Order: sequence, then C-alpha cells, then structure tokens
Amino acid sequence: MIIGNFYELFGQMVFLAGILIICLLLLTLILGKLLIKQDRLIFPKVLLLTIDLFYGPFKKFSGIIGLDEIIVDHIGVEVRNKVNENEFKSIDPQDNLLILPHCLRNPHCKAKLEESGLVCVKCNKCVIGTLKKNAEDMGYKVFVIPGSTFLKKIVEQNNFKAVLGVACYQDLNLSMMKLAKFSPQGVVLSRDGCFKTKVDTKAVLEKLGCSDHISADEAKINALHSCSKDKLSEKSF
Ligand code: SF4
Repeated sequence: MIIGNFYELFGQMVFLAGILIICLLLLTLILGKLLIKQDRLIFPKVLLLTIDLFYGPFKKFSGIIGLDEIIVDHIGVEVRNKVNENEFKSIDPQDNLLILPHCLRNPHCKAKLEESGLVCVKCNKCVIGTLKKNAEDMGYKVFVIPGSTFLKKIVEQNNFKAVLGVACYQDLNLSMMKLAKFSPQGVVLSRDGCFKTKVDTKAVLEKLGCSDHISADEAKINALHSCSKDKLSEKSF
C-alpha cells in the first residue's frame, strides 16, 4: 500500500515536472520570438537557463511543434549578444579575441593551417584578411579556425577577457554557451556551409567597435580596409 502510494505520488510529480518543462520551453519560444522580432529582451536569465539546461530536448520540442530547430540557436545567440553587449564594449580590445571560421576564405587561399588555425597573410582576396587587419589594428588577437578543437586550444593557450565569434547559428550558440564567462558576442554567417560562406562585414566591424569609421557606401561593400586609425579606405576586392 505504502509502495503503491509512493509510485502514484512519484508518477504525479514526474507528470507535473513534464508539464512545467513544456511551459518553460513554450515561454522561452514566445520570449525568444519577441526578442528576434521586436528587439525586446524579457527574463534573459530564464531564456539562457532553458537553452543551456534543455538544449537537445528544446530543439526536438521545437521540431515537434513545427518550428525550425535552429530557432533555439537563434534565440541563444540573440540573448547572449544583448546580455553581454555592454560588458564586451567596456573591455579593452587588447584583451579580446576575434574568432573567424576558415570557410570564409577565398577558394584560392594559400594560407597554411597551423596549430592555432589558418595563418592568414592578409592577401586581400577575401573578407578574412580585411577583418583581421582591422581587428589587429585595434588590438584584437585574431584566429581563423576550422573547428571547435582549435577553439579549445585557443582558450587554453591565451589570456583574454572577451571574445567575438563568427559562425553559423548552431556553432555560434554552442561556442557562446561554452565561453559564457568571456562576455561573448557573435555574428552569424549570412551564408553558411563548409565552403564559400559569407558574413556581413559591417556587422562584424560594428561589433569590433569600428562602426564610427564606416560611411554609408563603404558599409555596403563586403570588403573593407583599415578602420582603427584612419577612415576606411576605398579599396575593395
Ligand atoms: S585574405 Fe587570408 S584567408 Fe583570405 S585568401 Fe588571403 S590569406 Fe587566405
């Protein structure tokens, strides 16, 4: 009898917990959509807690109710960008890292892959050289990496306080999750994949703190040069 009551109570508690989790996931989706569509951030800690704690189930749940699973990563990136924005800006670029994905490189890139990633020589054939130059001029350390194993090494081998990354939604969200204590900021690839990907250069430069130097026309081009000391030049490629 006592055992029977225990199982009944246990079953009720599991059921209740399931209902609560579903409510939490739905609330996170609603608040996340509000953030994406209206730029309104409400209960950021709840959003991050749900995404961090229920990442896998949350994606499955989103798929079950007919949403693209990537919505979870989208919300995660947006929340972290908002939450960390001011802290990131307050940190000296000398203490910051910029991490770029090597899939952005030009197909004819001659740069070598070493332990720390791709050693871009800034040949100006792709956006990596441009971003690297601008970021390094400001004091950032820049890494161009093929995957998360390189990221782990970079984190272990460098002293830094903040990080700005570029990647697809899923990689970006997972990396920002892992690097949560470094006030991460992220820019999502505008075309993802394994090769010939694209990123909004202006968005990255703005995150770097170069936006003051971008004129309207210059901002449109997908390749910009020096912004740390001088106004951006008119060169493009
Ligand atoms: S700018 Fe750097 S990454 Fe791009 S093609 Fe040249 S060496 Fe390769």
